[in-house]
Amino acid sequence: MTSLPGGSDKGGSAAEPQSLVCARCGTPAEGPPPTWTCSVENGSRQYFCDRCSRENLRAIEGRLDSAWW
Ligand SMILES: [Zn+2]
Repeated sequence: MTSLPGGSDKGGSAAEPQSLVCARCGTPAEGPPPTWTCSVENGSRQYFCDRCSRENLRAIEGRLDSAWW
């Protein structure tokens, strides 16, 4: 089944897949999970998974500006 009727447009990704990985343990995630913690360091966003966010909660709070909280 190499040829599908009207399926010529398929194959290309419409949008860039947001491949997020935990900045600490490298756990991949599809899109920004709501349970993950987003930390901005040096202008770049870094996401931490639920486990790492708990472990790094103190460090993240110290790095983040008060405006984020
Ligand atoms: Zn992690």
